[in-house]
Amino acid sequence: CLATHIQNTIRLLPNTEYHGLVNKSTVWVFGDQLNRQIGALRDAQPNTHRILIIESHLKIASRRWHVQRAHFIIASMRRFASELREAGFEVDYRFAESMQEGLRLHIEEFVPSKVIATEPNSYAARTLVSKLGVESVKSNQFLCHPDVYKEFQKGRKSLKMEDFYRFQRKRLNVLMDGDNPVGDRWNFDEENRSGPPKKDQDRWPKPEVVALDELDAEVLKDVSQFSWGVEPTGQWATTRAGALQRMNYFMQNLLPMFGEHEDAMLASNWHLAHSLLSPYLNLGLLLPEEVVAAASREFVLGRVPISSAEGFIRQIIGWREFIWNCYWQWMPDYAQMNSLEATRDLPQLFTNPDKTSMACMKSVLQGVNERSYSHHIERLMILGNFSLIAGINPQQLTEWMWNSYVDAAEWVMVPNVIGMSQYADGGMLSTKPYASGGAYVDRMSDHCKGCAYDRKKRVGEDACPFTVLYWDFFLRHEDRFVRNPRVARQVRAAQQLADRDDLQTTAVSIFSRLDNGLL
Ligand code: SF4
Repeated sequence: CLATHIQNTIRLLPNTEYHGLVNKSTVWVFGDQLNRQIGALRDAQPNTHRILIIESHLKIASRRWHVQRAHFIIASMRRFASELREAGFEVDYRFAESMQEGLRLHIEEFVPSKVIATEPNSYAARTLVSKLGVESVKSNQFLCHPDVYKEFQKGRKSLKMEDFYRFQRKRLNVLMDGDNPVGDRWNFDEENRSGPPKKDQDRWPKPEVVALDELDAEVLKDVSQFSWGVEPTGQWATTRAGALQRMNYFMQNLLPMFGEHEDAMLASNWHLAHSLLSPYLNLGLLLPEEVVAAASREFVLGRVPISSAEGFIRQIIGWREFIWNCYWQWMPDYAQMNSLEATRDLPQLFTNPDKTSMACMKSVLQGVNERSYSHHIERLMILGNFSLIAGINPQQLTEWMWNSYVDAAEWVMVPNVIGMSQYADGGMLSTKPYASGGAYVDRMSDHCKGCAYDRKKRVGEDACPFTVLYWDFFLRHEDRFVRNPRVARQVRAAQQLADRDDLQTTAVSIFSRLDNGLL
């Protein structure tokens, strides 16, 4: 087979000059490792190393990507190749049917003395690299390698994010005052849960945009037949320089206000209090240590309050790294878990939201169509929450999110959807299901005013689907969740509802309308 052929070829690669080609090693760079400081690239030199980047047709055509996501990745890859060439490297930017085929053709043409890669960021890519016999170098793209995570796991019965976060703060010496946290508190989350700001207090500056050029047009020509959504508007930078500019912009203009409204949602402000740096971190255009160092510096210089600096840094060294390690700990079986046996197909409204009368869903889904992005609370508490209480298949939701978001990657989508948002892992990641009704959406957003549904109603045609399905969810799963101390109260409250039968009849009607595109 092809894999064995490549493996044998790699084993037999000569250490001599071949057909007049300088016998260099090849560093195989994946599309989410676009940084000179990552793994095998860190020590690569133009006179001893050649770079291989493969744009696989099968990969691009394997899904219906959001056009901005496909463009962001491909344009970033092509620009990174140019930057490496400018730095003196010979770059084989190879268009191939598959990754395997690309590697085979590269070896045939260049006969490298060896091929090395940095540990890839997905289970499938790591399996491929190992199957092909490619030597892999430990990745430093994250701050806590799974080997280090094992130290955290040692002797612990439960693995809580907060404990991991403190472990990270100490070992990385971030916001520390000796052995104690700066400000004498580890976590300022309590101060970061305000609802949306009043309209006249909406002071968040608009994100910067970049002008698109010929390379962007070329990429769009190549990806448009496999994609959907509104074409790029320059919202997402596709170079390291552009990513650094966004990071500095965030540090100076938004970090001082970060935190307080990070869980709030406004139909009129999609970027509210968010850094928008995740796409760059997830592709390697930014490294977590430089983002954390920049935020810490702003705090040390007295330009941002501790609650903002801590709230932001927690997302980077805590949550992001925790999720990364959960992925490696539990894959591959984890991706297929469905403990609540949720079997409803992903409703049409996810791909065609214009007709829905649910103002919150429409706003968030139209935003995804426009920008390939919505922020974490919109993902968790609108789209994720709705999918959970409506019993939508978690694998279909993961696929949709993976295809739709500019910052998506399997390592981030699988634990966040299967674990955090859908409770499909039966509580391995989160101790409770993140189910909420219309009251939560109303408190944290401006969506409910003017919605066709009434967030207070749980019976009748205009009853809010979030409110109805929230109660119905706890009734459907009462046996399981009545034993969970974190949500037992909600189950008992659902059991005691005087209009329980009418509510369940309304839920049946909502499901019927949902499945028929009429909700
Ligand atoms: Fe969403 Fe219900 Fe509020 Fe409408 S009333 S915006 S459906 S939560």
